Amino acid sequence: AYVVTENCIKCKYMDCVEVCPVDCFYEGENMLVIHPDECIDCGVCEPECPAEAIKPDTEPGLEQWQSLNAEYAKSWPNV
Ligand code: SF4
Repeated sequence: AYVVTENCIKCKYMDCVEVCPVDCFYEGENMLVIHPDECIDCGVCEPECPAEAIKPDTEPGLEQWQSLNAEYAKSWPNV
């Protein structure tokens, strides 16, 4: 799955949400997140993010963001 990271905090762009074919973005406390079980790994959102906040979870060092995306996606509204 892809994961939303630090640069998304307080970013108000929604370009990623528009392009996601499976509508798996959720609105967390102060950032958007991706539902790890719904993301189909298409990669379409990554270049659309003006803040470069979206990364593949295969990148090392993203564990805390993976946990946060999973947690927020399960308890916050779909966008
Ligand atoms: Fe949606 Fe594709 Fe981005 Fe996953 S990688 S969040 S399916 S646009």
